[in-house]
Amino acid sequence: MTPRRICVLGATGSIGDAALDVIARHPGRFAVAALTAQHRWEKLAELCLRFRPDIAALSDAGAAPRLASALAAMRLPTRVVAGEAGLIEAATLPDVDTVLAAIVGAAGLRSTLAAALAGKRILLANKEAIVIGGAAFMRAVEQGGAELLPIDSEHNAIFQCLPAGYARKPDQSGVSRIVLTASGGPFRTRPLAELPGVTADEACAHPNWVMGRKISVDSATMMNKGLEMIEAHWLFGVPRERIEVVVHPQSVIHSLVEYVDGSMLAQLGNPDMRTPIAQALAYPERIDAGVPPLDLARQRALTFEAPDHGRFPCIGLAASALEDGGSAPAVLNAANEVAVAAFLAGRIRYTDIAPACADALSRLPARALSSVDDALAADEEARALARAWLKLPVAA
Ligand code: NAD
Ligand code: MG
Repeated sequence: MTPRRICVLGATGSIGDAALDVIARHPGRFAVAALTAQHRWEKLAELCLRFRPDIAALSDAGAAPRLASALAAMRLPTRVVAGEAGLIEAATLPDVDTVLAAIVGAAGLRSTLAAALAGKRILLANKEAIVIGGAAFMRAVEQGGAELLPIDSEHNAIFQCLPAGYARKPDQSGVSRIVLTASGGPFRTRPLAELPGVTADEACAHPNWVMGRKISVDSATMMNKGLEMIEAHWLFGVPRERIEVVVHPQSVIHSLVEYVDGSMLAQLGNPDMRTPIAQALAYPERIDAGVPPLDLARQRALTFEAPDHGRFPCIGLAASALEDGGSAPAVLNAANEVAVAAFLAGRIRYTDIAPACADALSRLPARALSSVDDALAADEEARALARAWLKLPVAA
């Protein structure tokens, strides 16, 4: 077997770690061709020593010379590239067939888009890219002849529950609804009066998953589920009214597909991102992910409840952004990125996040987008509005 050659965008993050763990279990099947990070050059150097990629990219050009000298000292032939152009070069290397898109936020959009236009198999974790890029991103996937496989656990579960060859046409396959499960995060039962005082560390202490800090805050506000509704719409061609969110605190059922005959198919497993990553890396085959099997007899109960929209206003904001379409999802995502970064930096309260997003959405009415550049223009306007609403310094 010729190994699949893989580029990991965002190799130093939580998804990057999980992906490289799976890849390392199958040395004959996968080879690492490129690794990228933002600025953590020491960690990237260690990964280069271990995985021997052809290219290592740092989006922070200032850190690139340090990586280059560290690699030279280790006598590694890995070439160092920098900036957004470096990420794009890594994502489009001719001999790379699989690009794992695991950068967090809008920062991952251009390199993921480049991989789409270059016709790669894209393993998508970076949900913000598809939320912002929307129709234009999906067109790029089609034009480039790329293959888009979700590794967000819910979307990967749905992908596994859909028929093979599903072509984004629910009615043709008898699909009536998509049901996204959500854990409810760390504040599902926290008294509402305490929410203004919660800290970033409390928000990041997720009950079932260990993840990067941005997605952890999104899970606490449930904006994550809102972004995932938009992601599901684009990935599976399902309209807003046929996407339901249900809170399932045990995180054992990762999502479900409901069919017109009344069947519901679910995918279950331990909450470990290595499962969806391995499923997509090997697709359509199956490989060991290093994840212990689910012990159903020890699972006391699986429970479900409707989300509390008063506690989690971000779900409703995302649902209306999806209904409004056009630039609205990009605006929502951008305002949320600004607010979450400010919350993580201790500059605003947890309860400021949703109103900052609502304000940006109400001031920037949805407009039609014809390209990813249009979407990024809306993203920039929304960032400026969110910074103003949150009274953050202009460059924060
Ligand atoms: P993380 O913060 O742990 O890692 C982010 C990675 O992106 C790092 O390698 C970092 O160097 C890189 N990065 C950050 N900013 C960058 C920039 N400006 N330019 C270039 N690179 C940059 O995040 P994560 O938890 O691994 O999440 C990554 C993506 O996967 C997110 O979109 C998240 O929503 C999605 N996701 C994560 C999980 C999870 O379990 N962690 C689950 C589902 C989806
Ligand atoms: Mg998810």
